[in-house]
Amino acid sequence: MIQSAIIDAIRQYDTILIHRHVNPDPDALGSQGGLAEAIRAGFPTKKVYQVGGPVGNLDWLAQMQTVPDATYAGALVIVCDTANQPRISDARYPQGAMLIKIDHHPNDDAYGDPTWVDEAASSVSELIYDLIQASDGALKLTAAAARLLYAGIVGDTGRFLFNNTSPHTLNVAAELIKQDFDPTALNNRMNQITFAQAKLQSYVFMHLNVTEAGAATVVIPLEVWQGLGLTADQVHAAVGTPGRLGEVVAWALFVQQPDDAPYRVNLRSKGPIINDIARAHNGGGHPLASGAKAQDAAEIAAITAELAALVANDKE
Ligand code: AMP
Repeated sequence: MIQSAIIDAIRQYDTILIHRHVNPDPDALGSQGGLAEAIRAGFPTKKVYQVGGPVGNLDWLAQMQTVPDATYAGALVIVCDTANQPRISDARYPQGAMLIKIDHHPNDDAYGDPTWVDEAASSVSELIYDLIQASDGALKLTAAAARLLYAGIVGDTGRFLFNNTSPHTLNVAAELIKQDFDPTALNNRMNQITFAQAKLQSYVFMHLNVTEAGAATVVIPLEVWQGLGLTADQVHAAVGTPGRLGEVVAWALFVQQPDDAPYRVNLRSKGPIINDIARAHNGGGHPLASGAKAQDAAEIAAITAELAALVANDKE
């Protein structure tokens, strides 16, 4: 069983480095930190590090550790929640003695040996809970681990709204909230937005283009989000906004980036599969939640047309 192979590796190595993807979301940080906490509690003498670049406005949830290159010599490296190698945060991940991938995105880039990918899982945090359960007490579910894993599940299911929420997901959430942390406080913190983020959501509603069949798109120019004083991370709070409209079936946000970098594209859907469009535009992700890049207005127009056609065909 794949879980046993991962637990054996954890037993075997004295130094373990845990990575996750760039621009981390609660599941990236929750699975990374939850696994780190569970290993530390089960094996207090091992050196366990959570590494990666800035965590943005999620620094209330988790912090990273700084390690010198030498730490990687002879170490186990585990990467959580990251489908493709270019998106792994901290490029030193190949420098260990063994590399393990734990993920729930389509396995387009099967780096790592072993690779544990379960696309049916709501989140990698759910998988880490399963790993702890499969470890016969070797890994320990502490309150700190439970809080992180719960945050990851809440984040990736949109508070149990998305169709990745299975009976098992809810059972796991029920077990996690038996631990000593405050899930209501956590949910409130995750739900909280700044006044500027609320204004951006208003911009999205005001400028949304929606086709007859329900394909919605909006371009967010640099001067709009920077003018509101938002960081690129904070813009993400507007990604789910169009989905609240009954008329909207699938949607894309095109967020202009500084320094002429490509637009960040957030694609979401209530039914039609949108990750093929994402893959065709330098991206990827889940069937109903993906990301891509658009070089210019022409590529924005192309993605807009592809989304409109997808939703129109789906309706037929
Ligand atoms: P986002 O719209 O940035 O919240 O991303 C939604 C999902 O798509 C996440 O699961 C990401 O891992 C994935 N994703 C976003 N951008 C990319 C990209 N450029 N390449 C591959 N996957 C991506």
